[in-house]
Amino acid sequence: MASDTLTSPVIAGTATRPNIYHNFIDGQWVESTTGQTFENRNPADTRDLIGIFQRSGKSDVDAAVAAARRAFLKWRLIPAPRRAEIIFRAADMLAERKEDYARDMTREMGKILKETRGDVQEAVDTAFYMAGEGRRLFGPTTPSELPNKFAMAVRQPLGVCAMITPWNFPMAIPSWKLLPALVCGNTCVIKPAQDTPLSTFNLVRVLVDAGIPRGVVNIVTGFGAEAGAPLLEHPEVRAVSFTGSTSVGRTIGTTAAKSFKHCSLELGGKNPMIVLDDANLDLAVEGALWGAFGTTGQRCTATSRIIVEKGVYRAFLDRLVERARKLRVGNGLDETSDVGPAINERQLESDLEYVRAGQNEGARLECGGCRLEKGDYHWGWFMEPTIFSDVDRKMRIAREEIFGPVVAVIRSENFDEAVTIANDIEYGLSSSIYTRDVNRAFVAMRDLYAGITYINAPTIGAEVHLPFGGVKATGNGHREGGIGAIDFYTEWKSVYVDYSDRLQRAQIDRPE
Ligand code: NAP
Ligand code: MG
Repeated sequence: MASDTLTSPVIAGTATRPNIYHNFIDGQWVESTTGQTFENRNPADTRDLIGIFQRSGKSDVDAAVAAARRAFLKWRLIPAPRRAEIIFRAADMLAERKEDYARDMTREMGKILKETRGDVQEAVDTAFYMAGEGRRLFGPTTPSELPNKFAMAVRQPLGVCAMITPWNFPMAIPSWKLLPALVCGNTCVIKPAQDTPLSTFNLVRVLVDAGIPRGVVNIVTGFGAEAGAPLLEHPEVRAVSFTGSTSVGRTIGTTAAKSFKHCSLELGGKNPMIVLDDANLDLAVEGALWGAFGTTGQRCTATSRIIVEKGVYRAFLDRLVERARKLRVGNGLDETSDVGPAINERQLESDLEYVRAGQNEGARLECGGCRLEKGDYHWGWFMEPTIFSDVDRKMRIAREEIFGPVVAVIRSENFDEAVTIANDIEYGLSSSIYTRDVNRAFVAMRDLYAGITYINAPTIGAEVHLPFGGVKATGNGHREGGIGAIDFYTEWKSVYVDYSDRLQRAQIDRPE
C-alpha cells in the first residue's frame, strides 16, 4: 500500500507562510526536481494565496511514467472486482469530505458553492458507477463458424495512461478519466490545469487514502508546455485523455498520433438553446439563466447562443434581461452569490474583448458588459452578466467560444431556420430546445447535430452514466462517461479456443 511509504502530501503553512503541496510519484509525496514552484490564488480575491504547488518538468514526468509502468505489471493482474473495491472506498471518503473539497474548489476557481458541491458529487457518482464496472467489463461471446470451437472477445487494459485536464471542472473531469482507467487495470499520470491543482490533488489524495497501490496513480502539477508536453510525448504512455481548448487539443491530437497513442479529445463548444413560440417562457428563461451564467459561463456546455422564434422573441428577451440584471455577482463562498468571478485576468480580458467585438459588429448590448471593480470586487476578476440581442449568426459572438458570462440572443423566422442556425457552427457539444410540441421535439432530437440534446432544459446537466462528448471541432469521436469511457481505456482481444483436436481453417473448411 502507498501509505507504507507516505511522505507528507502538504507542508502545512502558518499565518504568514502558505501550504506547500507536493507531487505524488511512485507512492511518495515529493518535490519537483526542477526546484521550482507556483502559486495558486483565489480569483475572487487574489490576496488569498491557497497554496504553493510544484512546477514540474520532464524529469518529474519521466519518474512518474516509469513508476506507472512498473506498477502496471501488478495492477493489471489484480482482479477487477478487487480494483473496484478501492474505488468504492474512495467514493465513500469523497462523499464524507464533500463540503471541505467544495470549499477548496470555490476558493481556487471561483464558482459558487452550490456548483462546487455538484462538482465533487459528480466525482462521487463517477466513482460508484465505475466501481460497479469492476463486476461487469463485459465483452461478447459468440458462436464460431466451426464446430468444437469457442469464440469471445475480452477487454484488456492499455498500460500507462496520461490525463491532461482543464480548470473548470477540476475534480469531476479528472474523475471521469482516472476512475474508468483504474478499474480497467491501467495506471495513470495526471497533469491538472495550473489554475486548479488543489481539487485534483484532493481527488488523488482520496485514492491514496482508499489504498491505491504505489505507482498506480501519480500526479504531476505544473504548466502545460513544461509538464503536459513531455507527458504527452512520452514513448511509454499508451493513451492520452485531454479535455481543454480546441487549439491545444489539435496539438495534442497530432502529437499523440505520431506514436500511435490512443487519444481522446474533449474540446470547446458554442451551445445553442432554441426557444419556440409554443415554449413555456418562464421555464425557458430559468433555463437560459442557469445555462448561460452558471459557472460564470465557463462551461464547455454553457448556453452561449439562444435562438428564439420571432413570435416570442421580445417577450423572452425582456424577461431574460430583467432576471439577469438581478443576478448577484460575488465571491462563491458567499451562499447568496449567483455568479462568481472569471478564472483569471486573461479570461476576464478576453470576455471584455468579446463585449467590444459584439458592439463593434452591431449587436445590441441589453445588459452588463462591464468589469466590476468597486468595493469587494476590487481584488477579483468579476464582470456583469451580459446579454446581446439582435445578434447575427455571422458575428464573432455568435460563432466563437467566449467562456464567460456573455450570451448571444438570435432571432429566427421559424423552427427550421432555428435548427439551421443551431447547426451552422464549428462545434457540436450540447444543444437544447424549449417546446411543447412533441413532433418538433423529436425532429430536434434527430436533427440538432451535437453530442447532447436537451428537451425543455438548458444545455448543461449531463449525468455520469451517459456518454459525454461532441461532434465536429468538439472532439475526435470518443465519449467520456458511462460505457464510452470503458471503451476508451480498454482494447479488445479476440480469443478462439479450438477443442476439436484437429486443424480447422476459418473461411476454408465449411462443414455441412
Ligand atoms: P486549455 O488551455 O486547452 O488547457 C487544458 C489543459 O492543457 C491544461 O492542463 C493546460 O495546462 C494543458 N496544456 C496547455 N498547453 C499544453 C501543451 N502545449 N501541451 C500539453 N498540455 C497543455 O484549456 P482550459 O483553458 O484549461 O479550459 C477551457 C477549455 O476547455 C474550453 O475551450 C472548454 O470548452 C474546454 N472544455 C471542454 C470540455 C469537454 O468535455 N468538451 C469540458 C471542459 C472544458 P495549463 O493550464 O497548466 O497551461
Ligand atoms: Mg487558482
